[in-house]
Amino acid sequence: MKGKHAFCGVVALLAIACGATTAPSPPSPCDRTYSVSSDFSSDERTALERANERWAEIAVAQFCLVDGDASRKTIRRIPYGSAEWQELSRSFGGLNILGVYRGADDSITIVDSLALDLFELVALHELGHAYGLGHVDAPAIMHAAIGTATDFTPNDMTECRRVGACPGLSQSDAPDADDALECALPGPHPSSVQAH
Ligand SMILES: [Zn+2]
Repeated sequence: MKGKHAFCGVVALLAIACGATTAPSPPSPCDRTYSVSSDFSSDERTALERANERWAEIAVAQFCLVDGDASRKTIRRIPYGSAEWQELSRSFGGLNILGVYRGADDSITIVDSLALDLFELVALHELGHAYGLGHVDAPAIMHAAIGTATDFTPNDMTECRRVGACPGLSQSDAPDADDALECALPGPHPSSVQAH
């Protein structure tokens, strides 16, 4: 996680101006910021925010979501069944993919036209990977397939603490969660093309 904390310049300047050399730095409002692509619907955008807030309630770090800043890490939406989706699905052995987290560029991809509650679960799961969590046994948000839980379970919490993303294990004791995680989340698509 080293070097990933983008502290706000203003906060840093204030700390220097106040001579706050011994006290720990004030917590940054955003430990990491993700740019949300503009093609999510407003309901999906709200659900993304809700998923992010649900993580913020249990996690040590706080992520922020901003709109359409291409210089940031991204959360993007792709059409289900599109050529890009098919390529993605192929790269994961033909899974019926609803969401993907790529550790290499710390990006989240979610398919379009999901029912909102399913969309939020996919967002929760992929954000969990962004926090460094791997897959765990069901029932869990972080189970390798969607739908075994609608809220964090003890299995999620154990994994969250294990990687140091939740309170209970110091960051320095935590294993490095930056290993190129690449996870695809399969699940049922509510409408259209089931035959992939
Ligand atoms: Zn996953």
